[in-house]
Amino acid sequence: MKEILNTISAQKKFYKTNSTKVITYRKQQLLKLKSILKENEQKLSAAIYKDFRKSAFETYETELSIIYGEINLYLKKLNKWAKRKKVRTNLANFPAKSYIIPEPYGSTLVIGAWNYPYQLSILPAVSAIAAGNTVVIKPSELSANSSAAMAEIINTNFDKNFLHVIQGGIETNKFLLEQKWDYIFFTGSPYVGKIVYQSAAKNLTPVTLELGGKSPTIVFADANLKMAAKRIVWGKFLNAGQTCVAPDYLLVEENIIDQFLELLKQQIAEIYTGKFDNCEAFTSIINEAHFKRLSYFLENSNVFFGGKTHPEINMIEPTLLFPVRPEDKVMDEEIFGPILPILTYNSIAEVIEIVNKNSHPLALYLFTTNNQTKKQILSTLSFGGGAVNDTILHLTNHKLPFGGVGNSGMGNYHGLKGFQTFSHSKSVLDKPTWFEPFIKYSPYTNLKRKLIKWFVE
Ligand code: NAD
Repeated sequence: MKEILNTISAQKKFYKTNSTKVITYRKQQLLKLKSILKENEQKLSAAIYKDFRKSAFETYETELSIIYGEINLYLKKLNKWAKRKKVRTNLANFPAKSYIIPEPYGSTLVIGAWNYPYQLSILPAVSAIAAGNTVVIKPSELSANSSAAMAEIINTNFDKNFLHVIQGGIETNKFLLEQKWDYIFFTGSPYVGKIVYQSAAKNLTPVTLELGGKSPTIVFADANLKMAAKRIVWGKFLNAGQTCVAPDYLLVEENIIDQFLELLKQQIAEIYTGKFDNCEAFTSIINEAHFKRLSYFLENSNVFFGGKTHPEINMIEPTLLFPVRPEDKVMDEEIFGPILPILTYNSIAEVIEIVNKNSHPLALYLFTTNNQTKKQILSTLSFGGGAVNDTILHLTNHKLPFGGVGNSGMGNYHGLKGFQTFSHSKSVLDKPTWFEPFIKYSPYTNLKRKLIKWFVE
């Protein structure tokens, strides 16, 4: 723990030198980060494969490529985003200039989750660095090999007074949370999110909480059903369903249920069947505890398709549960695995009622070709973000802020929003001294009152 305190105090000291406020310094660090990740791609892929048999293709597709894309964007836009922004001055303050200076918070803590160990720890760190902060990353202990690889690569290439990875479990996390930070960015469960929020409150530290929840996917009879099945199967079973924005459960219009179940089965068979041994296409569950948690759902639900498990490698084949009722246990908590409960509905009112049972999901997906339906769902239900006629991919558009609402979190990142998250907007009114309106001073005469009213009203 002494080592941790030393790192934090070294970072605070370094921040005060103002080095991180220099834009070229930030850019150099981002370039360095990109280049050491690229140099070590094989090591990073091998480590994540050890953790949960995730393929090199998916590691590149869902982790590294997203980090590279974000770094490239920041390198291109940083000069513009970090500039002070002039805004109009109101009449009452005439003559003056008004501007906003994006100011780094200072020393920041990024706590990552295990399911995308590189992306979820490094992506917020990219935003923090770009905004001029120092960063401590605390990755998850559950993806121990990936965390160790990330720590080795970052800690041997960066000064610990600027960017450092601290490995450890819950005790380390608790200790880190007891320290005074200028910003905390947390990705994980709503349960731990509350612990983080409480700790941060003691020092009035601002936080971003990227949490989870049950993300509904609604299929209407008028949708392109074949494409819907294809995109749902991809989004659900990517990373074996261990994705915070994975479709958690399906709501399918009753009159097309048989047809849609058949399409889902066909799609799973086409992509995955027979491919479990070489593991190119399918990831394992992170550990035995989660494997057992998910197996409980299999044993206590109606397995319609799949359901086969491979306990020796903690693998569960893509599984469809049907029929499922809203009151079933599997509808109470986030699944976070390759198990897809399917419910039917007959009206939009029913959809709204079921979704609101677990309110404020992180994501929501709807498949329809009817604009009226789209409008009604989007304007009625609250959720972090989502897609119409697709799953997951909204998070790859850096123009769309990514984050939850209510139980699925607070704050956003990705692209400009990530930069803004790690920057305080310092507002400045800058006045010359050659003019001063007499009306703000006493005596408060009738003329002055009339003039103020005239200005304001
Ligand atoms: P988690 O909350 O168990 O762990 C996250 C971090 O908190 C880890 O670094 C862990 O060491 C630490 N931690 C665990 N228990 C703690 C405690 N009692 N006190 C202090 N720290 C503690 O989450 P997880 O299992 O790593 O990830 C799964 C959850 O994260 C799911 O709910 C998922 O939806 C969510 N998630 C959200 C996003 C997002 O971007 N919104 C992304 C990925 C995962």
